[in-house]
Amino acid sequence: MKTIVLASGNENKILEIKSLLGPFGVNIKTSKELGLSEPIEDGKTFAENSLIKAKAAFSKTHLPSLADDSGFCIDGLNGFPGLASNRFAKAAGNYENACHILNECLNENNKKAYFICCISFIYEKSNEIIEKTFTGTFEGEFVYPGRGKNGFAYCPYFLPNGYSQTFSQMPDELRTKINHRAIALNKFLEFFKTFISEK
Ligand code: IMP
Repeated sequence: MKTIVLASGNENKILEIKSLLGPFGVNIKTSKELGLSEPIEDGKTFAENSLIKAKAAFSKTHLPSLADDSGFCIDGLNGFPGLASNRFAKAAGNYENACHILNECLNENNKKAYFICCISFIYEKSNEIIEKTFTGTFEGEFVYPGRGKNGFAYCPYFLPNGYSQTFSQMPDELRTKINHRAIALNKFLEFFKTFISEK
């Protein structure tokens, strides 16, 4: 059975990814289980940051390593909070305060926003190190005040295109099936099916 490292400390993501990869009969070890420290995420893009995390796990274990990085981006604010999604909410005190500030800075006529998720996978094949990154985005609109109780972080403040409910008003089963992470994970899974069947 192949072992892969899941370089994440986020329990929600770990459960979601384990349940998706479980049917492939793969042994998944998290960075916590392996005692791996978290690297400094100083990339300039989501793809760079997910690669930094996957590379750090790979360089310590030499096992195929998977990591992800995601965030919430507002077009009218040049993509802010983007890479600072988590830090900005912490600095503002909570997500409600953060979104109140974002709303104050926004022009009523342009509330376009999107979620993005990058998943990176690094492994060795025939003495060559192979790096793959898969990206999922979901476009929609920033809404304030927030609506709904499900989900987390920026979910109440995002109305996805094509839906009349925010990510927080949707049931968890629907959101996790369609969101940016699901899009990136499904792209990764297509690749993973081939990877897992190789010797
Ligand atoms: P990370 O990928 O765990 O580093 O997530 C970065 C930050 O982006 C999170 O802490 C949230 O603030 C935001 N974020 C990413 N994905 C979602 C989501 O699906 N819903 C709401 N907020 C999200």
